[in-house]
Parts: sequence; structure tokens; C-alpha cells
Amino acid sequence: MREIIVATGNKNKMTEMREILEDSNVKLKSLKDIGLGNIEINENGRTFEENALIKARTVHEITKGIVIADDSGLVVDALDGAPGIYSARYMGHETSYHIKNTHIIKELEGVPDEKRTARFVCAMACVMEDGGEFTVTRNFEGRIGYEEKGENGFGYDPIFYLPEYGCMSSELSPEEKNGISHRGKALRAMYEELFRRGVFNE
Ligand code: IMP
Repeated sequence: MREIIVATGNKNKMTEMREILEDSNVKLKSLKDIGLGNIEINENGRTFEENALIKARTVHEITKGIVIADDSGLVVDALDGAPGIYSARYMGHETSYHIKNTHIIKELEGVPDEKRTARFVCAMACVMEDGGEFTVTRNFEGRIGYEEKGENGFGYDPIFYLPEYGCMSSELSPEEKNGISHRGKALRAMYEELFRRGVFNE
């Protein structure tokens, strides 16, 4: 079993990542698991990739272990890419997602279906034990719906409509979402890259 530290304080992300790697020989440890639950990381990058690397490097400098970090967010084309890298901070960290989601729907009032395109983006960065780094980025395409729906997922899932499925991403089961999501795809790509680099042979 190979231990990998995940530089996130987000419980939902941690749960999804554990589900995605359930059948692998990787044990994911959260910041809380390693006593760094209160670490403050200044995500001042300009892209998802930069922010993911900032998080992974900060934790690698302390632990020296293999660290992965994801930076993700919702990119809405009709809002010029907002909330983007500011997805967690959009309208303030403490603002509920019900308020954030309602606001986005309101901003898109009058925008027709074909212009409501949006995507979740997940950049995942890895800093290896020897300090080597790489990132992988994957998207999850959808559209902004007209009302909040569904009980699963988190964040912006209740307004993220998937035309091929005819429902919101919050109406998918966790397994279904992980199979097609930005984070699912990025984490599987990350796993393959670690495998390719021989991390699991040691
Ligand atoms: P981060 O923790 O700085 O990467 O911020 C990610 C933010 O993007 C989350 O807090 C959510 O607002 C949003 N987000 C990312 N992935 C998802 C998802 O799968 N569903 C819903 N919202 C997401």
C-alpha cells in the first residue's frame, strides 16, 4: 500500500477521491490525518494548475512525501469564465451555495440553452518524494440549469445540467458522477502517470 497525502481541507473532495481510488493500492491521507488540518495556504496563482501546484508544494515542503493537490472550479462561458479559480471564494467563502447558485441562475436570465455552456475543471498537481512535479487537467462539460435540483454532490452540482443524462450532476449517484467528472478523470490520469513513473514499484 502506497501512502499519498492529499493537500485539501475539503471533506467532499476527499470523500470523492477515496471513492475513486477505492480499488487501488493507494491509501490517501488528508491534511487532518497528518496533523496539518489548520494549515493556511495562500492560493494566489492565476490558473487552476498554478494553484494546485502551490498547494502540493507547500505540503511537500513540510512532509517530503508524495503529495497531490487539486484545484477545481466552475467555468461559465456566459460569465466570461467566472467563477473559475474563485469558485470557492465567489461571493465570499461563507456564503451558502444556495445563494451562489441562485445568483448564477439570475445572472443567466434570458440566456438561451446553447449559450449556457459551462464546465467543471480539475487541475491535479503532484510533487513526488524527489521534488519532481507534474500536473494533469480534466474537464466535465455541462450547462447551467434554470433551477437547483438534486441532493447529491456539493457546491455547484445542483445547477450543473448534463444534457446527455437529462439531469443535474447532483442527481447522479456518487459512482456515476465519479465515472465522468473532472475530478474522477484527473485522479485516474494522475494515478496512471504515477504508475508510469514507477511510484508503485517501490
Ligand atoms: P478549491 O477547493 O479551491 O479547488 O475550490 C473548488 C470549488 O469549486 C469548490 O468549493 C466548489 O465550489 C467548486 N467545485 C469543484 N468541483 C466541484 C464539483 O464536483 N461539484 C460542485 N462544485 C465543485
